[in-house]
Amino acid sequence: MTGIPPTHPRYKSLMLRERLVGGFRHGIVVPQGLIAHGRGEMFDYLLGEQTTKEAKAASKAAAAHLLGAQRPAISVNGNVAALCPEDVVRLSILARARIEVCLFHRTDERISKIMQVLKEHGAAEVLGFLPDAELPGLDHMRAMCSKEGIYSADVVVIPLEDGDRAEALASMGKKTIAIDLNPMSRTARTATVTIVDEVTRAIPELVLNVQDLKDSPEAAKSALSKYNRDENLKKVSNLMAKNLKSFLAPK
Ligand code: ATP
Repeated sequence: MTGIPPTHPRYKSLMLRERLVGGFRHGIVVPQGLIAHGRGEMFDYLLGEQTTKEAKAASKAAAAHLLGAQRPAISVNGNVAALCPEDVVRLSILARARIEVCLFHRTDERISKIMQVLKEHGAAEVLGFLPDAELPGLDHMRAMCSKEGIYSADVVVIPLEDGDRAEALASMGKKTIAIDLNPMSRTARTATVTIVDEVTRAIPELVLNVQDLKDSPEAAKSALSKYNRDENLKKVSNLMAKNLKSFLAPK
């Protein structure tokens, strides 16, 4: 019970905050994660808090990459686990992707709590507790990952990822699918495909696209050929600027 009435104009956004605060109290979200969400909210405001056609196009290309992958993986941090654990699990099942918990502020306790949340939402296996490999070029704590999961993956979904790790994964030759509301972030500009959308809208959309493209290799091929990351990011940035200008324009 939050006391927030569903008629509140900012209901959805406030409910996401509630989930994060709940995750914080439960010990899966760190205070820094709350700040990162605030940065995301600001960009979402500029998007009109809706999934744009650019995000939809990126999501289709992302689905095509996932369906073409040999060893897909999904990286999960505390915010993602607090916001949409059920969607992560659905995506992992449909795309046959391993789930691995990867934390910037890593403790064994947080990892095991996040693993438990994902298992409660149906995940059969969650990697990340006993890392046995390191991503090159990062300090030890942030480099840690699992050989069976992200380290050997060919396509990695990286929602709300930090730029250093996104760059390290790209430098290993992996395809990465970022979900990030900031079209200017290093992660957004490094990933193979960047979906500029709020993660609780983006993952269900990705699930739908994986379902749609599963038996349509031609449609998957076409989604890939139509997608250009930098053009897509430019269009999203222009849309944000346009929304801001129209808000400021005299009536
Ligand atoms: P980078 O290191 O990639 O340049 P950064 O320093 O902003 O970017 P972080 O602080 O790790 O990276 O933040 C993660 C990113 O996730 C931010 O760009 C933020 O806009 C985005 N973000 C936060 N919450 C959400 C959300 N709910 N949905 C989608 N994106 C989000």
